[in-house]
Amino acid sequence: MENKQTTKYAPGFEDAIYKTWEESKKFAGTPDGRKAFSIAIPPPNVTGRLHMGHALNNTLQDILIRSAKLRGMNVKWAPGTDHGGIATQNVVEKELAREGKNRLDMGREEFLRRVNEWKQLYGGSILEQLKKLGCACDWDNIHFTMDETCSRAVTEAFVRLYEEGKIYRGHRLINHCVRCGTALSDIEVEYKDEMGKLWYIRYPVAGEKGKWLVVATTRPETMLGDTAVAVNPEDARLAAFVGKTLILPLTGRKIPVVADSAVEAAFGTGAVKVTPAHDFTDFDIGVRQKLATIKVIDEKGTMTPLAGAEFAGLNRYEARKKVCAMLEEQGFLEKTEELKHSVSVCYRCGEAIEPMLSLQWFLEMKELAAPAIKALDDGRVRFYPGHFQKPFLNFLGEIRDWCLSRQIWWGHRLPVYYCRDCQSRSSGEEAGVIVSAEKPSKCPVCGSADIFQDPDVLDTWFSSGMWPFEVFGWPEKTPELEYYYPTSVLVTGHEILYLWVARMLMMGIKFAGDIPFSDVYIHGIVRDRHGKKMSKSLGNTIDPLKVTSKYGVDSLRYSLTKQAVPGHDLLAAEENFIASRNFMNKISNAAVVVEREGFEAVVDMAKAESLADRWIVSEFSSFIKSAEDAIDSYDLARYARVMWEFFWGSFCDWYLEILKLRSGGISAGIVRRIFRETLIVMHPVIPFITEKIYGRIKGADDPSSIMDCAWPSAEVSFPGAREDMSAIFELIQGLRNIRSRLAIPASAPVRIIVDTEEAFAKKLSEAEYFILPLTRAESLEFGPAPGSGAANFATPFLKCSVPVSDIIDIKAERARAELEIEKIEEHTAKLEALLTNSNFINSASADVVEQKKELLANFNSKKEKTAEFLRSLDA
Ligand SMILES: [Zn+2]
Ligand SMILES: [Zn+2]
Repeated sequence: MENKQTTKYAPGFEDAIYKTWEESKKFAGTPDGRKAFSIAIPPPNVTGRLHMGHALNNTLQDILIRSAKLRGMNVKWAPGTDHGGIATQNVVEKELAREGKNRLDMGREEFLRRVNEWKQLYGGSILEQLKKLGCACDWDNIHFTMDETCSRAVTEAFVRLYEEGKIYRGHRLINHCVRCGTALSDIEVEYKDEMGKLWYIRYPVAGEKGKWLVVATTRPETMLGDTAVAVNPEDARLAAFVGKTLILPLTGRKIPVVADSAVEAAFGTGAVKVTPAHDFTDFDIGVRQKLATIKVIDEKGTMTPLAGAEFAGLNRYEARKKVCAMLEEQGFLEKTEELKHSVSVCYRCGEAIEPMLSLQWFLEMKELAAPAIKALDDGRVRFYPGHFQKPFLNFLGEIRDWCLSRQIWWGHRLPVYYCRDCQSRSSGEEAGVIVSAEKPSKCPVCGSADIFQDPDVLDTWFSSGMWPFEVFGWPEKTPELEYYYPTSVLVTGHEILYLWVARMLMMGIKFAGDIPFSDVYIHGIVRDRHGKKMSKSLGNTIDPLKVTSKYGVDSLRYSLTKQAVPGHDLLAAEENFIASRNFMNKISNAAVVVEREGFEAVVDMAKAESLADRWIVSEFSSFIKSAEDAIDSYDLARYARVMWEFFWGSFCDWYLEILKLRSGGISAGIVRRIFRETLIVMHPVIPFITEKIYGRIKGADDPSSIMDCAWPSAEVSFPGAREDMSAIFELIQGLRNIRSRLAIPASAPVRIIVDTEEAFAKKLSEAEYFILPLTRAESLEFGPAPGSGAANFATPFLKCSVPVSDIIDIKAERARAELEIEKIEEHTAKLEALLTNSNFINSASADVVEQKKELLANFNSKKEKTAEFLRSLDA
C-alpha cells in the first residue's frame, strides 16, 4: 500500500539531501578539458545574517551554476566572506558600547582580538545559511578577504601601484565621517534631502563704510574658515567688487573678492563664500586662486583653535547656533530663508559628512579606468539589463582619484612605513615614506632602524575589488586562475555597481590581465508586499529561513526566481510563497501518477506514435529551448514561468488527465521519460524536490544524483501534432465555456456536433476518447449545425454546435443576457460621460482617471463577451 506521507510535499527533507551532495563532493571544481563556467560569489559581509537580498542573489547564481553543470560544463562557484571594514568595526563597537567599553580605551591589539573572536563565533554563519538555500558552492575553497591569500594579493597590488607612481600620499579634501572617525571615498557618500536654512550674511567692504557684499550659505559655521568670496567673472552686477578686500565678520580677518567661473551667478546673491578646507568646490577654487586653507573643524566634528577662541571646542552644531546668534546681534545677518537641500551622509551610519582637508593615501584612477571603459565599449563586458551601462560609463569617464586610507583598525593595514629620522629632517608629504610588502628592518635612505607602520587600513573595497582573481590564488599563477578566470558572470544588485563592480573591472584588467567577467547580471531588490524597502527599523523584514521552514526551500527559490526580471524589484508576499508551494505539491502529486505507470525502460521519443504522445514530446522540446534561451539571456523569471506553463499547463492539466483516461495510445515509456527529463530541466531552480523525486523514479543505469544527469535534447519535435492538439484544446475549451455559461448540469446528456474538413474530423475521432470525458459529453457527431435550439461557437478549424433546448430554457437565457447588456450599457454611459467631462479630467488625480478608464475597458469587454454569447445561442 502507498504511504501518503512520502508523496505529499512537506518541507524539512532538504538538509539530508544537501548533506549527500556535500559528502559526495558534488560542488568541487577541478580544471579539466571541458569548458569552464565559474562565478565568484559576491562575498557577504562576515557579520551578515541571511536576508532576502542574499537569498535572491544566491538563488540566481545557484541556478546558473547548476544549469551550466547539467549542460556539460566544468563549474566552480567560489564562496567566501568579506571582512567588511567599517561595517564590521561598527557592529563590534556597538557590542562594546553595551558593555560600557570603547575601542580607544581598549587599544588596537585588544580591539582586533575582540573582532577576530567575534568573527570566529559568528563569521561562518552566513555561509552555513547559504547551504540551507541549496547553494552549490565549492566549500573546499572558501576565502575571506583578510585570509593569507587575499592579504598577500592586496599587499602585492598596493606595492606595485605605488612603485608605478599611481598611489600617492597627499593633502586633499576628503569626505570624513565624524561618527565612524574615518575618511570615506566619494562613492561611500549618500545624499538625502533635508529641510534647512539659507543664511544671507553681510561681508563689509574694507575701507568703504556702509558697503558690503551679501553671501548665502547653508553652513554658516564654516565662514570662520573662509579665505575669499568669489563671483562669476561674467556677472556684471558684481564686477566692481572683484579685487576688493572684505572684512570677515566675527573674525575681522581680511579676505579678497575673486572671480571664478565655478560660481553660479544664479545661486543666492551671486557671491559665494570660499572655504577651501571644508568644501569640494571651494577647494578647487582655492587651488586655482592660490588661497590659503584654514581648517576650522576637526575629525571629531569639533571647532579647532583656528576657528577663534570663542568657538574652539564647540561641536559643529553648537558653533552654528553661536555664529548665527552673533551675526544677528552684530547686524551682519541680512535674512534667512527655508530651503530644501541635499545633505551628504555616511553610507554606513547616516551621519552628516564633513568634507575636510586631510593627509591621506590616494590611487590615481584615470589610467585604470580607460581599459575598463574600452572593455564596455567593445562589448567584451555586457550588462543585463543594458540600461545600467550608460550611467556606469559616465561614472568611469568622470572618475576621481580614490581615497584609499581609512582611520579604522579592522582591515588590511597599509604596507607603508615611516622613518622617524628622515621625517625629522623634512616635512614633505612623502618624507620618510617606505612602501614595502615586508616590514623593513632599516630605512633604505638613511639606515635608521627607527621605523613605524602607518596606522591606517585600506578601504574595504580595495580587497573586494580583487575578489574574482584573489579567490583563485593570484598573484600565484595557479591552474585554477588559468582555467576559471575570467569568471563567466557576476550576479549583483545595482546598488554596488560603482563601489564594487567598477573596481573589479579596473583591478581585474590591471592585475589579472583580463576582464574579471564578461556578463554582469543585475537583479532588483526584494521589497515587502506593499513595495516598501525592507528594513529592521520599519520592522517589515522577512527571514528567508522562516519562509523555507514553513513552505520549503524550493518554494522560496521558485517565488524569487519567478519575479527575477532583470533590473526589476521583487515582492516578498505570502501569497507568492503559497502559490509556489502549490506548484511543489503539483509536482509531488504528478510523481505519484507517473510512478503508477511502472518502471519500464525509457523509450526513444522519436518513436512516439499517438497524437497525445507526439504532442507532449513537441511541447517538451519547445520548453527546453525556452528554458535554455531564458538562462542564456539571464531572464530567469522567464525560465521559472515556462517551467510552470509546461509542467502545470501542458503536462499535468492535459497530458496526465488524458493519461488517466486509460483508453488510448499513451506510452508509459514516454510519460516516464518526459517526467524524468522535466525534473532535470527544473532542477536548477528547485533542486531539492527534483532530486528527491528523481531518487524514486530513476532507473538502474541512471546516475545516483540528478546533478550528474545530462541536460535533455530538444531535437525531437512533431510540429503537426502541436497544431492538431491546440485545435482540439480550443474545441474542448469552447465546450467547457458553454457548459459553465449555461450552467449545464454534469449529468445532462450533451451531444457535440462538429462541422469541419474531413481530415480534421478524422483526427477528432481519434481523440474522441479524451474529448468526450474531458467535456462530459455523450457523443461526437459530424455534420452541419442544427440551426436552432443550440449553442454555437467557431474556431479557425471548425464550427461546433451543442443542442441545448432540451436542457435549458433558451428564451430565459437570452432574456437574461439582454438584461445584462442593458445594465452594462448604463454603467458605460456614465463612465464615458465622466471621462469626457473636462472638469473631472482637470480636477481628478491621474490615478483616479486611470482607474476609471480601466473600469470602462472592463465593462466593454464584458459586454462584448455577453453579446457574443447571445449571438451563439440559436433560439
Ligand atoms: Zn559613519
Ligand atoms: Zn631614514
